Amino acid sequence: MGKILLQSVFHNNKECNILINGTTFYAIDRQFSPAEIDGAEVVDCKGMAIFPAFYNAHTHAAMTLMRGYADDTPLFEWLNNYVWPLEAKLTADDIEIGSRLAVLEMIHSGTVFFADMYWHRERTMKVVEEMGIRAAIGVTISDKLTSPQDFENNFTFLKKHTGESERVSLVVMPHSIYMNTDESFKRSIAVAKAENYIFHTHLSETEKEVVDCQQQFHCTPVELMEKWGALSPNFVGAHCVHLNESEKEILAGTGSTAVVNPCSNLKLGSGIPDIAGLHSKGVNVALGTDGASSNNNLDMHEEMKIAALLGQLQAHSINKIFHKNDILTMATEAGAKAYGLHAGKIEEGYLADCLLVELDNAQMIPCHDYLSNWIYSANTNAIHSVICNGSFVMRNHHVDGEEEILRDAKKRAKEILER
Ligand SMILES: [Zn+2]
Repeated sequence: MGKILLQSVFHNNKECNILINGTTFYAIDRQFSPAEIDGAEVVDCKGMAIFPAFYNAHTHAAMTLMRGYADDTPLFEWLNNYVWPLEAKLTADDIEIGSRLAVLEMIHSGTVFFADMYWHRERTMKVVEEMGIRAAIGVTISDKLTSPQDFENNFTFLKKHTGESERVSLVVMPHSIYMNTDESFKRSIAVAKAENYIFHTHLSETEKEVVDCQQQFHCTPVELMEKWGALSPNFVGAHCVHLNESEKEILAGTGSTAVVNPCSNLKLGSGIPDIAGLHSKGVNVALGTDGASSNNNLDMHEEMKIAALLGQLQAHSINKIFHKNDILTMATEAGAKAYGLHAGKIEEGYLADCLLVELDNAQMIPCHDYLSNWIYSANTNAIHSVICNGSFVMRNHHVDGEEEILRDAKKRAKEILER
């Protein structure tokens, strides 16, 4: 890992030079001394804009193998009758192959980080390490889906592997209030708090989940999280579709993050998260794709545009406007912040993660406002190259080994259905 000099790259409405040194942005838009750029790889970026890469704050990566499987089914039926029976057949090798396909898709669509809640996490960790991006990998806890021994193994795994990798962190991830007993959920909260782990769970995704929680615990899911002491800047709740006004204020007041996944919610008919409302109350709102089986892709740019459109509609109803910079922040910096990364911005000292986007793409022309073009007009075909942690993970639209990854995934998905 060395230095990269991005020469004549379009940034903040003008061409400039940006120097990456090691894993961070060293300097933006100034003259460099010969010593500063000594040994740097010089990349001619004329005709390209630099944007922060995407941070996918909630997904289930290996579910790429179930893309398009059992569409048109409501959430609980989809989980009980299709997803969980098929998942029960998945081996560690399947998960590695599915994760590799997911990471390939993510890199192509400009994502350099994902928070993953799934099984056989050691395999997903290996894939992330090999392919050069970042992840917060969940120690996924569901004592209603797994054995008591598995439940204990989670905490042993956490202890053993924390801090092992520069780009992969471990996160405590109980699946949800409804897929965990309250003992296991409370134990997960206690472990996360005692050892300062990020804590991530599905939260208020469907109306049924809220009604069930009220019946069982006499409060809403967010109120329950508050009562159990889970909420803090280390808390990341996925979906957050069915929240009342007071719950949004509780999330804001505790510094918690709400990850919205509008594509998945729309497709499963779960509802629409109040993106503008959460944002206007000061909640750290991040974006996630959810798994490819309910999205059906892992394209954060598409998620960003749909979140922006829904957010605009909601913002107008409260006489506000949802600004482009806020939308970009949700897809980038907010997700990084939720998982403790100093990343998601093209600024000195930030982790050197970024996209080089072709300005000569038809959807980027004319250039009245290049950020508007990026959010509302373009798609990920305009991404020329992707840098993560100061190294290229995609150059000129190509990721090393991609042909083999596609071939393996096609073959394996077919084999799983035949088992
Ligand atoms: Zn999910």
